[in-house]
Amino acid sequence: MQFEHSATQRWILGVDIGGTKIATLLVDANAAVHSTLTLPTDISSPQATLDSIENAIHQTLRSAGVPLGSLSAIGLGIPGQVDSRTGVVKHAVNLRWHDVAAGELLSTRLGVPCFLENDVRAATLGVYRFYNRQSAHNLAYVSIGTGIAAGLIIEGELYRGSHNMAGEIGHIQVDVHGPRCACGGRGCLETLAAGPAIARMARERVAAGAGTSLSSVAGPLTARDVYAAAAQGDETARSITGIAGTQLARALHMLIMAYDVECIVLGGGVAHAGAAFLQPVLDEWQARRDESPLAQMMLKTDLLHLLPTTFHAGVWGAVAVATNGLPAISFKHHAPSIANVAFVPPIASELGAAS
Ligand SMILES: [Zn+2]
Repeated sequence: MQFEHSATQRWILGVDIGGTKIATLLVDANAAVHSTLTLPTDISSPQATLDSIENAIHQTLRSAGVPLGSLSAIGLGIPGQVDSRTGVVKHAVNLRWHDVAAGELLSTRLGVPCFLENDVRAATLGVYRFYNRQSAHNLAYVSIGTGIAAGLIIEGELYRGSHNMAGEIGHIQVDVHGPRCACGGRGCLETLAAGPAIARMARERVAAGAGTSLSSVAGPLTARDVYAAAAQGDETARSITGIAGTQLARALHMLIMAYDVECIVLGGGVAHAGAAFLQPVLDEWQARRDESPLAQMMLKTDLLHLLPTTFHAGVWGAVAVATNGLPAISFKHHAPSIANVAFVPPIASELGAAS
């Protein structure tokens, strides 16, 4: 596939695809934001999903008055197992995709090089490139939401592992007698620390007749309700967030001992609970530091950074995926010449206050 490039083709489009929403971000060569958009994802068929992605791309460009032909590249973050070299999505459960050659299909349909990456790994690149306050070269981004996964930057490079599975810490077994996980295992980290697990524990406590403000919450209980109640001092809620925080703290300890990262950025829906989310993690780290000089050396609290909710790591990550210019197989004889596109981080005020 041939792509013509000229000096005017300096635009980059990032697309973060979720099971319910598609978010886009159009930036120029200075990473200045020109357009951003959120649209619903049509998951009725892979074809319909590709159509909704294409529609989101066209709408974003139209709103900024930028023609499709001016794009250098499009980066896409996909919630699933992605081969970033071939652009093939092996599995994306929430999109109901299996072996969809989305990179090639979209590149052909749009006439613009499209680069794909798993969404958490894309977000990790976004954090590394655009929210890297300490200029760390060994960094982990951990997303705690409906699932838990980590992305790793090792010596300045995204680390994917041999099956594109590196950092899938949500499926590390932390309790051999724990609840059954969607992966088939038992007691995975996700079953004790992800959003649905926190909500499940709350439902179980309420059903067991615990004296808690959670029993008067209208509608289905969510992790957000539990953190809000914990922040108000509700003992049942604090016990649940304590379990989740302790398990997460131990998993982060493992990440640090395995990779010796200098910075861990925490994001995702559960992390949005802020201090109520972070405090139990810090408490467990303190307990570890109190008993071990090695833990004291390795578990520095300034390693941990809560990602501001105003920084959308998904779309910035998709932009970073595009600029990374991963040589997908279809482009190996004509890799897009975007290496010369200079990027500067967005200004701090765009990103919100430091955590
Ligand atoms: Zn699992």
